[in-house]
Amino acid sequence: AKENGRDNYQFFTREINQQVNERLLMENALRQALAQGQLEVYYQPQVALPGLAIVGVEALLRWHHPEWGMVSPGRFIPVAEETGLIVPIGEWVLREACAQQLRWRDEGLAVRMAVNLSSVQFQHGDLAGLITGIVTGMGAVPENIELEITESVVLDCADCARDTLTRLHELGFSIAMDDFGTGYSSLSYINQLPLDRIKIDQSFVRDITSNPQSSAIASAVVAMARSLDLQVIAEGVETAEQLEYLRLLECEELQGYLFGRPQPADAIGRLLRGDPPG
Ligand code: C2E
Ligand code: CA
Ligand code: CA
Ligand code: CA
Repeated sequence: AKENGRDNYQFFTREINQQVNERLLMENALRQALAQGQLEVYYQPQVALPGLAIVGVEALLRWHHPEWGMVSPGRFIPVAEETGLIVPIGEWVLREACAQQLRWRDEGLAVRMAVNLSSVQFQHGDLAGLITGIVTGMGAVPENIELEITESVVLDCADCARDTLTRLHELGFSIAMDDFGTGYSSLSYINQLPLDRIKIDQSFVRDITSNPQSSAIASAVVAMARSLDLQVIAEGVETAEQLEYLRLLECEELQGYLFGRPQPADAIGRLLRGDPPG
């Protein structure tokens, strides 16, 4: 093709139109997904050292599109956030997660349930009231629910985030800071929020045994958590070597493929009961 300005211009407008169309397509499809039951919540185990018992699960959204197959959250969550659809979707995830936790409780299986919150949810109405209404209305207990936030919650609205989180914390919910160590100002807000736990980002865990910088950061995060009286969990643990390293650091809890991938509730139920796999 000819390399002149006009061609480039046409190329870019075509490119932009295509992106806009893809967005619109995805937005409409996502609306349908929620209405037509294409969404499912998977659960990933969180285990405690030293014995590696499952103490919690994280609820992770899955989308089975009838033609596209599995769409990864990395692709559709940003669209859900831009369009505001994350508000009804986030509510739906919380209801599903509570209902599942209650089913397990009825079987005598106690697990903490961690649910992800998007910064967009903090900008719509009374999030603390909404969450509390859903959880207590269903008969679940705030003390057994953990809300995972990322730094974007604080960056998008520092004051409203702090007020909302403070209320939720007072009502008994546990608050975890996700992806810790990846943001810009991690240390400046850590003391201003009512946090119970920090999650060491999987990027540090990935090469914890091979990269001295990653292991130094992981070790510093564990030490900081301990001195601030926060719980700490490492994400993305895939190998026995990573497990042993984190054990030496005296990290309290671990999450990652080594202990279980995100999977449907039935499969997690079998893990919790200690049934043989299958
Ligand atoms: P996240 O909250 O940081 O979730 C952890 C991600 O790491 C999950 O990806 C999980 O499947 C993946 N993971 C867990 N263990 C390992 C491991 O050992 N190795 C590797 N390589 N990956 C591991 P997933 O399920 O694709 O979710 C991606 C992101 O989408 C989540 O990151 C979260 O930010 C977002 N997300 C998922 N479900 C929800 C939801 O219900 N609400 C909101 N607001 N965001 C969600
Ligand atoms: Ca998370
Ligand atoms: Ca994370
Ligand atoms: Ca993440």
